[in-house]
Amino acid sequence: MDFDLTPEQTEWREAVRSFLSRHLTPELRDELLALGFSHSPLVQQFQKEVADQGWWGVNWPVEYGGLDKTAMEQLILIDELEYAGAPSLPLTVTSLGPMIIRFGTEENKRDWLPLVTRGEATFALGYSEPDAGTDLASLRTKAELDGDEWIINGQKIWNSEAHLATHEWLAVRTDPDAPKHRGISVIIVPIDSPGITIQPLWTWGDVRTNQVYFEDVRVPKGNLIGEVNQGWYYIVGALAFERMALGTTGSLRRLFDDLVDFCGRTMFDGQTLSERPEVQLRLAELAVDLEVSQLFSLQTATLMDAGGIPAKEASMQKVFTTELRTKLADWGTQIVDLYGQLHQSDEDAALSGRLERAYRMAPFLRFGGGTNEVMRSIIAERGLGLPRST
Ligand SMILES: Cc1cc2nc3c(=O)[nH]c(=O)nc-3n(C[C@H](O)[C@H](O)[C@H](O)COP(=O)(O)OP(=O)(O)OC[C@H]3O[C@@H](n4cnc5c(N)ncnc54)[C@H](O)[C@@H]3O)c2cc1C
Repeated sequence: MDFDLTPEQTEWREAVRSFLSRHLTPELRDELLALGFSHSPLVQQFQKEVADQGWWGVNWPVEYGGLDKTAMEQLILIDELEYAGAPSLPLTVTSLGPMIIRFGTEENKRDWLPLVTRGEATFALGYSEPDAGTDLASLRTKAELDGDEWIINGQKIWNSEAHLATHEWLAVRTDPDAPKHRGISVIIVPIDSPGITIQPLWTWGDVRTNQVYFEDVRVPKGNLIGEVNQGWYYIVGALAFERMALGTTGSLRRLFDDLVDFCGRTMFDGQTLSERPEVQLRLAELAVDLEVSQLFSLQTATLMDAGGIPAKEASMQKVFTTELRTKLADWGTQIVDLYGQLHQSDEDAALSGRLERAYRMAPFLRFGGGTNEVMRSIIAERGLGLPRST
């Protein structure tokens, strides 16, 4: 099997690199390092510049604002953005748009896809509720039809982008009498609708997420995605694409390469860190894991290009890569010793505090998009055909 990029893909990668060399300015780099996930005006401006290239729709149809390329080209773009330390594509592009393309009505596609590709709409993922996390189908936020409008009441939690997004991609109960997986729909809700209250929740990784309350929020009937009461299928499909997006390796590879470089030029007890056998063993193992992780990305992108939704493979990719994130942060902080545990604000922090930050971010990614325990259940049931665990 040939894993080399084709000449067209190489050209595409060069175009992305050339864009990054011009648009990822030192000021933006500093801001990204200081703010992490936050969206400052400079970060927003950069994302708009990425969208203006048509890159928020790389593998979407031209008629809806896309470039009609492949998921492989989207993966190359994501890898390059991540490796450069730039903001990657939002889940609206990688996870939700693909579901509108596959299952949305013609009206849905015309309403939402061009807005996204122009960088004018991003969706927060409104799935989890205080009593509906892993058991998401127990969600209680409800939407009732009143003439030409849905009226929405309920509460979401861990609603990460709600304070930044323009809309909610909201999972709601539309048939309280149906079996729980069959009475759910997805409705897109403008975040500035009257009746929405957003409260911040801060996590250990400095990531802001939110609790969001919906009180008699009214949205047009046409904001329903696909068919009523079919939302569970759209959510499960979107989650598979989300797991692919959480399992990419560009930022991990960059941290690893910088760690190897650091070990090569840092003296400890009369020798460089990279001369120490225990450091070499760990770096070698991380290098192997990174290759495996990248192969998962290539596999799921190939399956996506074949028209599929890779449930089992995306779960494998997500488990492997998010646990590799933990391993790299853990081993990296051990290799560079106490300097690895220093916060980015400390001038002695190794690698500008990125190992310490990665360590605190790792649990979030093991939880996001469904926990890794649940990923293993999916692999066991759908991948190995084992009976459903109780
Ligand atoms: C920082 C952060 C950001 C998030 N962002 C979003 C977001 O934007 N939108 C959104 O909708 N959600 C978001 N989530 C929610 C996330 O998807 C859920 O936390 C996750 O699905 C788990 O649900 P829970 O927290 O209710 O835990 P629970 O479901 O209560 O699980 C608790 C523990 O029990 C384990 N467990 C539960 N059931 C099983 C089972 N059947 N088999 C094996 N183990 C099991 C879990 O693995 C976990 O370790 C976010 C979460 C965090 C922490």
